[in-house]
Amino acid sequence: MVSEEKYKIEDFNEWFNDIIYKAELADIRYNIKGLVVFRPWSVFSISYMFRVYEDKFNETGHQQLILPTLIPEENFLKESEHVEGFSPEVFWVTQHGNENFENKYALRPTSETAFYYMFSYWLKSYKDLPLKTYQRANVFRYESKATKPFIRGREFYWYESHNIFETLEDAEEQVLEDMQITEEMLHDTFGIPFIFFKRPQWDKFPGAINTYAADVILPNGKILQLPSTHLLGTKFTETFNVKFKDRDEKEKFAFGTCYGPAISRIYGGMIGVHGDCNGLRLPFELAPIQIIILPLYFSDADNQKIEEMCLDIAENLDKIGYRVKIDDDKEKTPKERFSYYEMKGVPLRIEIGPKDIFQGTITVFRRDFNEKIKIYIADIYDEIKKISLEFTNNLKKQADLEFSEKIVTVDNYNDLLEILDKENKIIRVPFCSIEDGKECADKIKFDTKGADIRGIRMDFDENPDENDTCVVCGKKANCIVYIGKSY
Ligand SMILES: [Zn+2]
Repeated sequence: MVSEEKYKIEDFNEWFNDIIYKAELADIRYNIKGLVVFRPWSVFSISYMFRVYEDKFNETGHQQLILPTLIPEENFLKESEHVEGFSPEVFWVTQHGNENFENKYALRPTSETAFYYMFSYWLKSYKDLPLKTYQRANVFRYESKATKPFIRGREFYWYESHNIFETLEDAEEQVLEDMQITEEMLHDTFGIPFIFFKRPQWDKFPGAINTYAADVILPNGKILQLPSTHLLGTKFTETFNVKFKDRDEKEKFAFGTCYGPAISRIYGGMIGVHGDCNGLRLPFELAPIQIIILPLYFSDADNQKIEEMCLDIAENLDKIGYRVKIDDDKEKTPKERFSYYEMKGVPLRIEIGPKDIFQGTITVFRRDFNEKIKIYIADIYDEIKKISLEFTNNLKKQADLEFSEKIVTVDNYNDLLEILDKENKIIRVPFCSIEDGKECADKIKFDTKGADIRGIRMDFDENPDENDTCVVCGKKANCIVYIGKSY
């Protein structure tokens, strides 16, 4: 495997593919391009992510639905920006057996046009609002960019939440709640740092008033967009005639939002953010095996005693509720077993050899700091509890530090070009406007071969100084933006 940390930065693609293969996360040999098979090790963590997200949706008053995978073309055609935005990526179902359908059906690339179709039947009165719904779904998009397991597939797995409200203010509140949910899930639970941006007008979801999205920075300095939330206003409610009778007896269109955390992609981002040159590192709660116990055999040792001790500790840890496994494969050297579980991202490894029996200790290798510690047998359960409780937070702190080091503030165009060309960094810079500064954005994109204005940050107000000017056109700056290249 990779010997140096810089490998991850300079050849992230190779590093990523290597981990997918060696940690047995996905199999790319399925015979439709862009569709891959997720293997048990990744599915376990992805299922956990789905569960905690589901709890959070329920806790915040969302109701779960299940809608059909197929969406009639006529639903799509109703919203012109939406159809224009998604058309190139839609998979169409045109036949049953040998016969053509009279009208074709889309394999959902997203389900606004299915939800709003139904909302028009369900919504009658202001008393029905807010209506907050979500579904767990797989969606299909014919990506023209190179596909990559978890990060960019032609089929992916997500929650899509579709909500309607009485007022625009209520809908805007929902955007803030979606941001809060993202913080609690991605950052607090999975340890993935991000910035939530309001996207420029020229880069919004087809059919939205505004798009907000969480950007994660990968080790190679490229940006991965994770959940986005969209303020739809009355765009879809007018199109699908989703009206309610208000308190004043007047009929009004509801205001909509949608939020789409792609769980499979969040998992892909997590691999990148937490992984290191020895492989995967998983937050403690997400690891299929949390503690691996390895008996170290020696020809002249009392191996039976070592095995008994391993069994005893495993049973006790299992009773406490940890996911534990003993690997006593005598065919493999200790080193082979060490690197295998490090590659898989198992948080803790307990090694027990003859010396330990003699000294009344065990050796614990912790994957958050990649260090070995000795623990007295008497303290083992307290110590493991302590480590397990701080483990994910340690990964998060390391990721936060790396994240902050990747953002550089500049105030002139030459520095911007030079840094985007040579370093794995995200630029923070004064800019004219995310409403109508597209020309400046286009120039940056052209001169840097692909860097985009990601938007203005939503987590706190960030204003340019009185005399700040746009680094491109020299006009008075009215915002601070972040610029980087997408992965
Ligand atoms: Zn400008």
